[in-house]
Amino acid sequence: MSIELDILHIDMDAYFASIEQRDNLYLKGLPVIISGNINKRSVVSTCSYEAREYGIRSSMPTKTAYRLCPNGVFIFPRFEYYKSVSKQIKKILLEFTDKVEMFSLDEAYLDISNNKLKLRNPLEVLVRIKERINRELGLTCSIGLSFSKFLAKIGSDYRKPNGITVIGHNNFENIIDSLEINKIYGIGNSTAEELKKIGVKVGKDLKQLSKGFLFKKFGVRGVKIFENIRGIDDSKIVTDRVQKSFSNEITLENDIEVAEVQVVIRKCAGNILNLMNVKGKYFKTITLKIKFSDFSYISRQITCKNVVTEYNDLVFILNWLICQKMDLKKKIRLIGVKISNLIDKNKIIGTQLGLFSFS
Ligand SMILES: [Mg+2]
Repeated sequence: MSIELDILHIDMDAYFASIEQRDNLYLKGLPVIISGNINKRSVVSTCSYEAREYGIRSSMPTKTAYRLCPNGVFIFPRFEYYKSVSKQIKKILLEFTDKVEMFSLDEAYLDISNNKLKLRNPLEVLVRIKERINRELGLTCSIGLSFSKFLAKIGSDYRKPNGITVIGHNNFENIIDSLEINKIYGIGNSTAEELKKIGVKVGKDLKQLSKGFLFKKFGVRGVKIFENIRGIDDSKIVTDRVQKSFSNEITLENDIEVAEVQVVIRKCAGNILNLMNVKGKYFKTITLKIKFSDFSYISRQITCKNVVTEYNDLVFILNWLICQKMDLKKKIRLIGVKISNLIDKNKIIGTQLGLFSFS
């Protein structure tokens, strides 16, 4: 956190859809929806602003999107291509400062306190970034400028698309007070629903809740929210983001009974181990997420004493997690496995060698 306004958050506007519209002129002005197969149970990953006018949103089942807008153009995502455009964005940003944190394919945090162009006015940096991304990549973005990452992120979402929002020491309280809680970074949809039940609708209501209450209800994340909405945020720009976890999720074509999950569990376990082989990692923590047909979900986690290396061990652990306090009557629509607590394979070999080495 600093006194100066030197943190930017850049968020590309309707990223995947905008890229498709840029590359195919006939898609301009049309409702474009990037998602998986309509007949399968996929969800919308991004949609153009024209599609949003029909009420379509990210994460909505593709089927619902199709019902809302049957004349929409549904396009299968080209992730590798979007990744390559993301690299081009990063390259432009690095010309302004080395302190660039690519937060996702279409979002980045920048610390512009010592910008390479020696521009004194942060707004000038911001305008130039927007210009270059637009001129060279034919895409628009929205940018928030503030003194903390949390507020910069809120800023980029404040006026979309193609917006600029400055959140300073003098106006951040007003902005937070009137902000709907689901727009506050760190509060997901389910948390927002829970809070709305106790009458918390906007930032001002949220400020009435004590730190203790938020901690009890949401753990460390609750404390962070308590601080962030008061302008306290010491998180730094992380230039080398090391991936700390990997996950694999499978949405089923038809809801299945708990007794039928074996095939899916084995598939997830295989996918995860294949990926870890490629990355050269072992792991200790396994999280199982299950979404039921009524869209409620549970997640169960375990951290093992030793690293998991074998397929059969992982399948065994996942089955054990499924047995923990599970409502066996509900049908399942999605199964996800996340692994974290990653350890480099060669480090493990090193220590094992150490056991037998002579000295
Ligand atoms: Mg975006």
